[in-house]
Amino acid sequence: PEMGADPEREYRLGIMGGTFDPIHYGHLVTAEQAREALALDLVLFMPAGKPAFKQDLDVTDAEDRYAMTVLATAANTAFDASRFEIDREGVTYTIDTLRALREHYPANVKLFFITGADAVADLVTWHDASEMAELATFIAATRPGYDIDTARSRISASGVPFDVRYIEIPALAISSSNIRERVSRGKSVRYLTSESVIGYIRKNGLYNRHVVERVDGV
Ligand code: ATP
Ligand code: MG
Repeated sequence: PEMGADPEREYRLGIMGGTFDPIHYGHLVTAEQAREALALDLVLFMPAGKPAFKQDLDVTDAEDRYAMTVLATAANTAFDASRFEIDREGVTYTIDTLRALREHYPANVKLFFITGADAVADLVTWHDASEMAELATFIAATRPGYDIDTARSRISASGVPFDVRYIEIPALAISSSNIRERVSRGKSVRYLTSESVIGYIRKNGLYNRHVVERVDGV
């Protein structure tokens, strides 16, 4: 739907942020079940341009991460890939994205920021946490290897009145780092992400050079 077009009704917009290097089924299940649980009209998948917390790491070209995001989300009419963060200059902070979306959409569009249990625990350490809490409702999904109660207590200890909805999703112990690692070792990544994303990785030779870097670094 055209977000905010009908002034008589409320629109619920989900934002799924991440590095998406590459996007995988953990991201997609999280977004789909958040959409369902919170009755979201649309989920925007937003690959980070220059991730604030991953500046020191070697992150794949933004156009490749965006292309894989488009491929993985193409068949879902409630999903969209957004160039917003990759088209911005420099480091992207979630607060800037939320501010920009808040300015862009009318007041009848409610913003929901979707994260896994690991990312939500970092919320309180983000820049301008209290303004962020005013701009969006947060959806925190369970993730294997991360304790949702740790996130809960860190958020409440911060004293910032975040509106956080906790959702339990089917456990998928899938991570982008594990996929990169497997590709670099020539191991199978089938069923960890979509065939279209796997095809893109192979066609463009992504993640192969990690082996060389790791050996050089030793
Ligand atoms: P990396 O291993 O490179 O850190 P990642 O798999 O953690 O990659 P990100 O792009 O860092 O993926 O994560 C984007 C968002 O998706 C974060 O909010 C993260 O918590 C969430 N997420 C990622 N994988 C899962 C999963 N398997 N289950 C639930 N949430 C997930
Ligand atoms: Mg991560």
